[in-house]
Amino acid sequence: MAHVLAAAEPISMLKRPPPPNDDEKAPPVNKAARRRDPPSSDPAAALAAARHEFGEHGGVNMSIEASATFTVMEPDTMRKLFAGELGPDRGDLYIYSRHFNPTVLALGRQMAALEGTEAAYCTASGMSAISSVLMQLVGAGGHVVASRCLYGGTHALLSRFLPRTSGVTATFVDADDEDAVRAAVRPGETKVVYVETMSNPTLAVADIPMLARVAREAGAKLVVDNTFTPVVVSPARLGADVVVHSVSKFISGGADIIAGAICGPASLVNSMMDLQDGALMLLGPTMNAKVASELAARLPHLPLRMQEHSRRAGEFAARMQRMGLRVVYPGLQDHTHHGRLRAMANPGYGFGGMLCVDMGTEERAARLMHHLQNTTQFGLMAVSLGYYETLMSCSGSSTSSEMDPNDRALAGISPGLIRMSVGYNGTLEQRWAQFERAFALMQQQDAPSAAAKYCKAI
Ligand SMILES: *Cc1c(COP(=O)(O)O)cnc(C)c1O
Repeated sequence: MAHVLAAAEPISMLKRPPPPNDDEKAPPVNKAARRRDPPSSDPAAALAAARHEFGEHGGVNMSIEASATFTVMEPDTMRKLFAGELGPDRGDLYIYSRHFNPTVLALGRQMAALEGTEAAYCTASGMSAISSVLMQLVGAGGHVVASRCLYGGTHALLSRFLPRTSGVTATFVDADDEDAVRAAVRPGETKVVYVETMSNPTLAVADIPMLARVAREAGAKLVVDNTFTPVVVSPARLGADVVVHSVSKFISGGADIIAGAICGPASLVNSMMDLQDGALMLLGPTMNAKVASELAARLPHLPLRMQEHSRRAGEFAARMQRMGLRVVYPGLQDHTHHGRLRAMANPGYGFGGMLCVDMGTEERAARLMHHLQNTTQFGLMAVSLGYYETLMSCSGSSTSSEMDPNDRALAGISPGLIRMSVGYNGTLEQRWAQFERAFALMQQQDAPSAAAKYCKAI
């Protein structure tokens, strides 16, 4: 199918009521492309400048287009839709909701505004966004240069699933080492350089401008997973070609929805929706319109939520460090990538809501988490992130357990590493008191074995 989706840029124009000199014949999606303000580099400002979708009856929220299929008034319209002469941006016309759905498309416009990309489309999960983009951009026999520090599922996709099913191969490198990245590139074969803005779970921060330069010189696309740092970092504004998200995390914020997004050029979204050749169209990881409507109501407060996640995580990281704990948080001066993140981050949103604390052994990590959840109610032992409650997990034995021990060690994931997604409910001081109490209880149980060791020594 030919071009069906015009550049879904952030716009300040409201769909209802029409502005005075509005061209009545202009189709709604084209109206969206008319922009009055220059695009803002602040994600909150860009989100607010995106078109506000009203409901069918003037509701302040958009209607949910709960239809799998769409009628046309004339048989010829159907032919034109399939020929690409009509579409969402050409007559506000739709075919079938595995293709474009108006509600899902409206959420995509918000995501495009957030990330500063021309277009975006939302999917049923983060993994489906990632796998579809990689399959679309790389193709059989193609090659990917990927960071060694990746989400476990993405690592498995690149190291096992795609080689087995698509003949795609990947070379994992230290993405900090520009020479190593350049050396891993295979001219003509490497189609994608793939990193996470802030890696899971080690919180290493990618040098996006450098990687964008290397990818461009190699004729490859830089694809960045920005799941850990929405609002805080805008990879596309720093040179990334495509930004992918697990919307299940901070963007949803409710720990109740699995969803994903692909943000990039309109040409990419269109190619992924091609009836004959598009990964999203043919693999079909479609987002439900009801889910899109829920998420669209959460995006406006994402910047506020990220500010508070960051503020709490920054404060806790500093206090834990003062207690003598080994803390990994990119907002701390001693983090290897502190300066890099400071240079890349959008001002005013802090350094993100994720922190890691290394308890040395899995046993001590487990004991601390037990008290944090079951004795003092500081947080919940659960994977995932971006919830209003603090979530904690021991990465080595959970989300990164599919990596082999050697890869885990290379990625810097020690057995006692607790990853925390710092929540924002309750007061900061209430939560900190809970942490201190759980830590004291854990230490009391440390004491007998420490004493036993001491006795043996003398
Ligand atoms: C959770 C996560 C994914 C996978 O997303 P799903 O929505 O669970 O499919 C990908 N990347 C990162 C960094 C994640 O944290």
